[in-house]
Amino acid sequence: MNLKPTDIPLSVKKFNKEVCGYCLGCGCHCGFIAYMKDEEIVDVYGHPYDKNSVGSLCNKGIALIGETDKLPYRIKDIFIKNKGEFIKSDIDEVKSLLSKKPIKKPAVIMGKFSTLEDYKILGKLTKDVYTTGVFLPFKPSSIPPYEWSNMKLIIALETDPVNSEVMATRWIMDAVEKGAYLVNISSRYNTLSAKASMNLLMNPYQLKSVLENILEGKDEPWNRLKAYLETTKESLIIVSETLLKSPLRYFLISFIKHLRTLYGTEYSFVGNITNVEIKELKDINLESHDLIISVDNTLYEFNNLPENQERFSLSLFPDFTAMNSNVIIPLPLFKEREATPLFNPFAYENKSTKLQNFPYTIEDTVSYIFDISGQEEPTIYKNDISDSEIDMKETDDLRCEDIYVIVGDSPVEIWGHWYPWLHGLEREQKVYINKKTAEKLGIKENSFFKGVSVEITNTVSDNTIFVSEGFEESQPFKIGVRKGRILNKPGFRIWRLRE
Ligand code: SF4
Repeated sequence: MNLKPTDIPLSVKKFNKEVCGYCLGCGCHCGFIAYMKDEEIVDVYGHPYDKNSVGSLCNKGIALIGETDKLPYRIKDIFIKNKGEFIKSDIDEVKSLLSKKPIKKPAVIMGKFSTLEDYKILGKLTKDVYTTGVFLPFKPSSIPPYEWSNMKLIIALETDPVNSEVMATRWIMDAVEKGAYLVNISSRYNTLSAKASMNLLMNPYQLKSVLENILEGKDEPWNRLKAYLETTKESLIIVSETLLKSPLRYFLISFIKHLRTLYGTEYSFVGNITNVEIKELKDINLESHDLIISVDNTLYEFNNLPENQERFSLSLFPDFTAMNSNVIIPLPLFKEREATPLFNPFAYENKSTKLQNFPYTIEDTVSYIFDISGQEEPTIYKNDISDSEIDMKETDDLRCEDIYVIVGDSPVEIWGHWYPWLHGLEREQKVYINKKTAEKLGIKENSFFKGVSVEITNTVSDNTIFVSEGFEESQPFKIGVRKGRILNKPGFRIWRLRE
């Protein structure tokens, strides 16, 4: 959909240019109108004719579009590390550095702000391109968010769209206002809990048992839910990226494929999900590569980084990945280029609009530094889950007595802590654990778990330790502990505390 400026401007500020675009801060791709004075954005509004945002933008989108280029710590120059210090440099020095250390086995890791265009360029350098998100070999969602509002039964699994696809939450609320039955199954109370008809606090073991009971139509209330799924066409199941990064992944995909095939249940996988064929971080052998190129902050997934490895960071901020790399290259944000997002849970093909100039493009930088040659176009899967051939793997046995560490979504994502306004939404990283589990583990209130302060709360399921994913050690306001130190399992968000 090509958006055009409204007949009457929405802003009262002085501007001389109106530019319409899509925010690529998450999968909602909210349409917006930016009011600009020359090169500067003076105001931004959600576009009233965009079907997903219908005139709204969330805090994250407003901060990304309006604040990113004004932040004092935004990386705008190339830096090379020399004897532990970063020295301002240029692209020729990077090229010359590489000529002295020939690279044999590079790998690329693509994070949240990666684009399909970046993947096509970096895929020419190596076949070892990995993502911090999840690749699904089918369409990640059977319906767009605005159609969620027409559903009569919604089952949300470990999903809090307020933290992932922010503006999509309204469509669940709309459905509930119209009488939909919302079943919210999650490891902690979340924003859907207030509106849900049925709230179940469950860890992965309990969740699997419930889904098995629904499939078998065993016992109350699961037999009623099964009957509802069988008889209503307007049913939807929403699953988070967090659960796909857990031992339950293949069980869940198979569960949803089953519902879709038998009953036509609609489905939406939400979070950093792509239908572009790409390797996932869980399969990387970091030590086997002599050069890692990170697009965005990706190395926070690791506990230890190999010594004697070249690392190039294409980054917005001097984050953990940048500080642990030898070369830092400025990364343009979506508003500074025309780009198609790699993570695309609703499989839109909305491109970002270039609102402002940025001195670097990934295409120019990579093709200048490296000798890249042609490679096949990536495969993009657009088929329905019911038509997909999925390479199903064994689901790990989950045991009732297992305790799960969940490093999951919370209000502020990892780069959000570089924006004062967003940081204020969640100032401190916490470990959340309920009383029963804390007693079992001998953990006390305000003690530390893996360096993070503990809060004992009964808003978390039994046998669960929940930690926010959005923190790491290089953030400017209040540092936290990176995911890799809490859950030493790159590419996963849920794993057992003990094997
Ligand atoms: S909901 Fe997502 S796409 Fe919409 S404004 Fe927020 S971050 Fe941007």
